[in-house]
Amino acid sequence: MSEALMPLYARAQIEVERGEGVWLEARDGRRFLDCVAGIATCALGHAHPALVEALTTQAHKLWHVSNIFRIPGQEELAQKLTAATFADMAYFANSGTEAVEAALKIARRYHFAKGDVQRVDVIGFAGSFHGRTYGAINASGNPSYLEGFGPRLPGYHQLSIDDWASVQEAVSRPTTAAVIIEPVQGEGGARAFDGETLLALRRLTREHGVLLIHDEVQSGMGRTGKLFAHQWFPGAEPDIMAIAKALGGGFPIGAVLASAEASSGMGTGLHGTTFGGNPLAMAVGLAVFEILAKDEALAHVGAMSERFFTGFAALAARYPDQVVEPRGKGLLMGLKLHPNNREVMALAREHGLLVAGGGDNCIRLLPSLLIAPAEVDEALARLDATLADARARGWGKVDAQPALAGA
Ligand SMILES: *Cc1c(COP(=O)(O)O)cnc(C)c1O
Repeated sequence: MSEALMPLYARAQIEVERGEGVWLEARDGRRFLDCVAGIATCALGHAHPALVEALTTQAHKLWHVSNIFRIPGQEELAQKLTAATFADMAYFANSGTEAVEAALKIARRYHFAKGDVQRVDVIGFAGSFHGRTYGAINASGNPSYLEGFGPRLPGYHQLSIDDWASVQEAVSRPTTAAVIIEPVQGEGGARAFDGETLLALRRLTREHGVLLIHDEVQSGMGRTGKLFAHQWFPGAEPDIMAIAKALGGGFPIGAVLASAEASSGMGTGLHGTTFGGNPLAMAVGLAVFEILAKDEALAHVGAMSERFFTGFAALAARYPDQVVEPRGKGLLMGLKLHPNNREVMALAREHGLLVAGGGDNCIRLLPSLLIAPAEVDEALARLDATLADARARGWGKVDAQPALAGA
């Protein structure tokens, strides 16, 4: 490992050389079935021909121009994203955390422009993840991302969504500007909120003139089987939505989508970016959208998700000593485990399967949305082998091992 790199990651000892579809190949020749997909980012798998074509064609024409010029790809992708959602307007950035920052700025500015200058507070929820910039870590409120990074920013409050009375109280305060929530918590451990919760939050925020921000950086772009996770629950639409990850299929893009009303405080010079929405990013984003926004692609996600969850139920029954419960939605999936999730992730690599970690001692599976049925079965078989191996090592909740048949 290079000592010239800041040691910010517990990196797996794999030097990835190339990828194709759901498969990754390391420099030493090992092949892995990739259920990480760059953390739900390579939604069309690796080296998808349509994306390679879009990127290389654009690369021969124009890489970058400043946002002081018109960028036709932005206009086109904004049009497609708004036509497919509640939103009227889009702003393009480079990453999820930048999309979240922009969402927070849009929300505060909305109230400011209306003269409600006291409305600055942002309510976030336990178990959430919104990125690593200052606004994002304060909005999430997760102590492990905040410790040592100076005073907590004023105007951010963290609540538990399970304590509804305190949510009602906080949203009704005249100083509250916005609530931010992931409809499916990703890093927190694949926790999918139900329609009742998301609809109640929508009603409550609207009743009090508070803006609702959905962070669909991970759950969006088809990951749950709808283009956006909140679209499972008509009426739950937010005022502002941050998206990124799969939007670029592996090319860095982020975006904020917002209603015209929520965007009404923004204007020339109030926000901006050098790189955001550059022609390369837009060429790839358009190619991704073209494929993922199709009904067949979304139906495929639903079918593959069902196949995974059927397999998970069988694994949970077979390995009650290892698996606490499957969770998640669509292909944003998690298994809460008895043994240490990090150790199981490393063990899965030995069985040629790449999975991500998650809060609440989960492993997460976030494969390409184009994963084929046989590849789902292969992932389940490798997971089965991993859990058997974990049991053989005496990991997990040993007293929960099922009695051997006939013993
Ligand atoms: C990954 C993620 C982010 C941050 O995105 P970056 O591109 O890493 O800045 C924000 N919110 C959610 C829900 C995420 O999953």
